[in-house]
Amino acid sequence: MKKILVTRRLLQSNEDRLKDLYDVKLNSNDELYSQQKLIEMSEGCDGILSALTDNLDEQTINKLPDSIKILSNFAVGFGNIDLNAAKKRNIIVTNTPEVLTDATAEIGILLILGACRRASEGIEDAKASNWKWSADYLIGKQLTGTRLGILGMGRIGKKIAKIARSLGMIIHYHNRSKLSSDKEEGAIYHKELKSLLSVSDVLSVCCPASKETINLINKETLEYLPKGAVVTNVARGDIVEDEALIDALNRRKVYAVGLDVYKGEPNLNPGYLKHKSAFILPHLGSATKETRTAMANLAIDNLEEFLKTGNCKNKVN
Ligand code: NAP
Repeated sequence: MKKILVTRRLLQSNEDRLKDLYDVKLNSNDELYSQQKLIEMSEGCDGILSALTDNLDEQTINKLPDSIKILSNFAVGFGNIDLNAAKKRNIIVTNTPEVLTDATAEIGILLILGACRRASEGIEDAKASNWKWSADYLIGKQLTGTRLGILGMGRIGKKIAKIARSLGMIIHYHNRSKLSSDKEEGAIYHKELKSLLSVSDVLSVCCPASKETINLINKETLEYLPKGAVVTNVARGDIVEDEALIDALNRRKVYAVGLDVYKGEPNLNPGYLKHKSAFILPHLGSATKETRTAMANLAIDNLEEFLKTGNCKNKVN
């Protein structure tokens, strides 16, 4: 029987399936393993079912036992894994695309609504019974007729676009490559990021974290936005330079932010906490029972496919 290390606790039905299939090392206390502990725990294992909270950098990968042949990541993103280091050691890396698109797009839309309609301030006032209705109380930005700029029109970006379109938003996007017109569904392509930002009344960051996208939203690029734009990020914290975004909020260059992801999670830059116009969530993108179950099942399917055939359709390195 193959031996698998599972670095984080999963939902019961997924752990039961793993127990049926493998000699499995589960993490019942859901302890966050240090890199050293992860290396030790993986001794004698054939594969690791990892999570985005595991930092599988080059140094860690180089110290994994030779028996490890697959890192099945429980996420569509894989910025936590050094793909080249894994490749050099003949370890395949897989991810869980598609199954989390809808849930994450829902949170992407929540970020847009929460930031534009001043939800944080409203919740605070309502809880404190500290409000009275008036014609100009907590006036926010209406989405209907507003331009939404999507940075990264992939699976999640397209689903956000679809919902936003139904809310009357006008969709613009930037990818490295233009989509075919049937996939664009009327969205307007911008070859340059600068051009997309200049028309983004609301920006939704949906691209992966990579060497190319780290700090792509920074002091310089924020200046291309129209004054009073709203910036939302449902992808990865590493894409945004926090100090620059907080400074843009301070200067009212940016009207509000909606964030689900942060550099150095679970900590976030305290500058955001000072702003009532920051609508912030604790990385809830894929957090529904249906989606987390489907993600773990796909991560297990990936293990199964690889251990049986030596390959996997969700291989990313
Ligand atoms: P996807 O289908 O691969 O889409 C990524 C899009 O980003 C593609 O359209 C790609 O187009 C574009 N892109 C990639 N590199 C780019 C660059 N350097 N500049 C501009 N555009 C670039 O991925 P997805 O399934 O939509 O997921 C996107 C990301 O969301 C994931 O990587 C993950 O980090 C994040 N996520 C977050 C949560 C959460 O809980 N908040 C949940 C799921 C996923 P081109 O290749 O043409 O550039």
